[in-house]
Amino acid sequence: MGKGRHAGGQGRLTDGLSMVLTCCVVGCHNRGVRDKVSFFRIPSAPGPNDGAQAASLISERRQRWIAKINRKGWLPSKYSRVCSAHFISGISILVPRG
Ligand SMILES: [Zn+2]
Repeated sequence: MGKGRHAGGQGRLTDGLSMVLTCCVVGCHNRGVRDKVSFFRIPSAPGPNDGAQAASLISERRQRWIAKINRKGWLPSKYSRVCSAHFISGISILVPRG
């Protein structure tokens, strides 16, 4: 199934900068252009419009990603991505690296 590649909500990438996507997992140096990997966004923090239930779901997911990524004192920015090397295929679950 090849879905999930919709062309970004708000037009083009910021200011025409062609950002090279890199993976934020420690020790992983995959890059979007060079390597044949896809990138996943880390769930962003819940916003004021999310209901309490949605917010707790979102932050739970986010926490799980952060825990798996396991970088000390690190929080994902909106540019943080995790490459497909860390996923069980088809399911959005990060797998810990050996
Ligand atoms: Zn990676």
